[in-house]
Amino acid sequence: MSLQNRVALVTGSTSGVGLGIAKSLAEQGASLILNGFGEPEHIQKILSQFEAEYRVRTFYSEADLAKPDAIAKMVQDAFEIFGRIDILVNNAGIQHVEKIDEFPTERWDAILAVNLSAVFHSIKLCLPRMRQQQWGRIINISSTHGLVASANKSAYVAAKHGVIGLTKAVALETALSKITCNAICPGWVLTPLVEKQIEALANSENINSKEASLRLLSEKQPSQEFVTAEQIGAAVLYLCSEAAAQVRGTALNIDGGWLAQ
Ligand code: NAD
Repeated sequence: MSLQNRVALVTGSTSGVGLGIAKSLAEQGASLILNGFGEPEHIQKILSQFEAEYRVRTFYSEADLAKPDAIAKMVQDAFEIFGRIDILVNNAGIQHVEKIDEFPTERWDAILAVNLSAVFHSIKLCLPRMRQQQWGRIINISSTHGLVASANKSAYVAAKHGVIGLTKAVALETALSKITCNAICPGWVLTPLVEKQIEALANSENINSKEASLRLLSEKQPSQEFVTAEQIGAAVLYLCSEAAAQVRGTALNIDGGWLAQ
């Protein structure tokens, strides 16, 4: 599969799942707009690696996705540099774990802004160009928590359920076109977002991080193995392919059996 003439924007691609997705797209030759936080040297290293290893054009946007103006600038810059965006992967996400009685309101606001509202803003800004180009792929990284809940994750669960609803609505609004919109629902992937939860469990239960990882997995993920960012990247490539032209409005679980229970 060649994506050589395609331009992809992957939000939150300086780490974890987003970085894995960006690599999969770059391996197929797509030009990449990367986004996310991180040390400048770390980000520079990623950009140099993409250009050297995959020989693709890259652009990095430091946009804070909690800010609609920053999203607008990111998309505008991308159009100015590449002239198009063919593939939009809404991946950036944050988490906060606390029971609702004590859930800080500012964390609720931040999670809703980054995990849900940013998806709306990016789609709204990219879709008119995709319509002009008469082709597009919108892929929203939701979660198993977009389909079922866990205690102490009210904001995350609400936002990720919202992403699946938004995905379906956009899929219907684009159904007569060559633009598709789908969601991917990963189970546990070992990234900094999950490492923080493993560390918190290890500290609260006074166990080492290996035991904490196993406990986290056994509680939810029957395979007892982490999903990898590469596996999510491969699913993104499938959704970008012509084979997936009629896959519309789905929520694709990649979860080691989490949602089969
Ligand atoms: P991560 O913490 O490794 O990466 C998150 C990325 O988002 C980073 O690049 C970070 O800089 C960026 N980001 C965070 N806030 C941002 C903001 N305000 N503006 C711009 N960028 C921002 O986390 P991850 O595990 O790779 O998560 C990626 C996505 O996958 C998230 O949407 C997450 O909810 C989802 N997900 C992760 C798992 C998992 O087990 N790791 C499971 C299901 C879904």
